[in-house]
Amino acid sequence: LSFAELGLDPRLVQAVAKQGFEKPTLVQRKAIPLALRGEDVLCKAKTGSGKTAAYVLPVLEGVLKRKKTDATPYTAGLILVPTRELADQVHKAIEEFSAFCAKDVTAAKLTENVSDAVQRSLLANVPDVVVSTPARAWKVVESGALGLEKLEYLVLDEADLVLSYGYDEDMENLARSMPKGVQTTMMSATLLSAELDTLKGIFCRNPRVLE
Ligand code: AMP
Repeated sequence: LSFAELGLDPRLVQAVAKQGFEKPTLVQRKAIPLALRGEDVLCKAKTGSGKTAAYVLPVLEGVLKRKKTDATPYTAGLILVPTRELADQVHKAIEEFSAFCAKDVTAAKLTENVSDAVQRSLLANVPDVVVSTPARAWKVVESGALGLEKLEYLVLDEADLVLSYGYDEDMENLARSMPKGVQTTMMSATLLSAELDTLKGIFCRNPRVLE
């Protein structure tokens, strides 16, 4: 199975090829088709499995598929990660995968080391996709700088670790700020974790589970 056969936009397939990826990894083969069909996914995946592309590519596909006639821009995708380092990596991956459709996809990264002024200017342009830690994301939603009313895609990476960083309240607040039907993908190194069960309860009760 090739990336093109997964049903991705040719511009995304081209970007994947430019990265030197020849074939999708197991996690990508399993998760991408489900996400493209609109399903909630909980996927057991660790670093090195290709998990980033497995969730970034379907989010970008969804953004590219949006009707551009929709006059008011809105943030369609939110990717929450527990650490600044991971946010950097994910943002870089988004830029690489959108190399051939950069005009049609805008992404912003929000982390604790970015000044409020820079953040406000990043968000003033209403990015299609936001990568953030939960604390930063809630801060900008609470301040009104980021709206999640029309959010379509939510990703929780390292979902088993998110709550161990003390983001419980941020996650609850964010969940209340987004539409009920938002399509959710959770990536987790383990599927057996009380913290993960809590997040499932907050964001998606019946995901397709990929072991
Ligand atoms: P991740 O698990 O997302 O942290 O990815 C680990 C590494 O694998 C990254 O350096 C990716 O660039 C690389 N990678 C992801 N998917 C593929 C693929 N299908 N073929 C080759 N390398 C890949």
